[in-house]
Amino acid sequence: MNCLVCRKPFAVPWSPATLLKRDWVCTDCERMLTPLKAGCPRCGHPTADGVTCSDCVRWLALGLDLTVHSLYAYDESGANWLHRYKFGGDVALAHQVQEMLRQTREPRVMYVPIPLSEERLRTRRFNQAEVLAKMIGPTKQVLVKSEVSSQRELGKEERRHRANPFTVHTLPHCDKIVLVDDVYTTGTTLHQAALTLRRAGVEQVSAVCLFRTLNKSKMCPI
Ligand SMILES: [Zn+2]
Ligand SMILES: [Zn+2]
Repeated sequence: MNCLVCRKPFAVPWSPATLLKRDWVCTDCERMLTPLKAGCPRCGHPTADGVTCSDCVRWLALGLDLTVHSLYAYDESGANWLHRYKFGGDVALAHQVQEMLRQTREPRVMYVPIPLSEERLRTRRFNQAEVLAKMIGPTKQVLVKSEVSSQRELGKEERRHRANPFTVHTLPHCDKIVLVDDVYTTGTTLHQAALTLRRAGVEQVSAVCLFRTLNKSKMCPI
């Protein structure tokens, strides 16, 4: 058996559970990612006893009510994984997270990836959020993103106050839209996208995000 992620051969111990498994990932690769334990019920950030985190309290105070199901901790190995997937173009890595993504699937939902701007899509060649969304369920390109400076190049202040870059392309017929993104850092991107959908008349919006940052100091105070 070869690992889907690193391609190295490895021995698979036999058990009824392994017979049913479709995507084989070796233990070294599996250890690269740390699933988030019960934390903030609105974004997955680790908090004591599942209390709503201070970031979410601030978003709620702004009238922005969005629940984000975050799957993995954005720790050092999570960041390495994402760098390899997103900037290295190693799309096969997504197989590793496929099962976790699938488990979030809900009925009568359209999964809408956070779009890249046209320019960004030309240079990256794929939308990392779209690949993830397709692993969960039906997807549609509902939002369009206008070009803004990369978040990585923006300071905290600029990031917080920049104009909403999202517009609605076409709305699908569905009960609910679930936004899909790769990493939740300040939450600005997902909240702006959700706000755009709500203003266009979508009543039920939530989100699935592969990673949630853990470091409090990186968060955006509002
Ligand atoms: Zn491996
Ligand atoms: Zn939270």
